[in-house]
Amino acid sequence: MIIENQAVEQDGADPICAHKIEIYCPNCSKDVDEAELFNKTCNDCGTSLENPEQHVAVAVTSVPVIGITW
Ligand SMILES: [Zn+2]
Repeated sequence: MIIENQAVEQDGADPICAHKIEIYCPNCSKDVDEAELFNKTCNDCGTSLENPEQHVAVAVTSVPVIGITW
């Protein structure tokens, strides 16, 4: 499962860049979907997903897509 987060402007703090969080099973490294995460159990190997493996990928550009005119 990939969760996409848009860039966030914060008052008095550094803005958060847009980033993606990919969630994998720590045992079989398969992609974890929403239902599996809700059940906290991997459907493929039955491993507990209390602490799923998360890969955070920060977007290359920090410029929000909204407002760009070509
Ligand atoms: Zn698994």
